[in-house]
Amino acid sequence: MEAAGLLVPLVIIVGGIVLLRSRARTKFYSRECPHCKERMRGDASVCPHCQRESVAWQQKDGRWWRQTDGGWEYLDTTGDPHRWRPFEGSAATREP
Ligand SMILES: [Zn+2]
Repeated sequence: MEAAGLLVPLVIIVGGIVLLRSRARTKFYSRECPHCKERMRGDASVCPHCQRESVAWQQKDGRWWRQTDGGWEYLDTTGDPHRWRPFEGSAATREP
């Protein structure tokens, strides 16, 4: 009976760690919904809060990309905080 009594808190602790880790990861790559301003996954195209569509971020060559009115931008992760930088290419090769 004692073993079963220890198992329950153990499952809660391990489950809590897994949940916190996955939350930290999704928080990092979350973006703001342009419609309702709620946080959503960066790579999601449909907002889980308002179910409206927006342009999702794309991961390519180890970088996150987003399309803006001025063209493509990539997430520069070398600094702190991370910044979006315009893609330095010609207009013809604006696609990442
Ligand atoms: Zn939304």
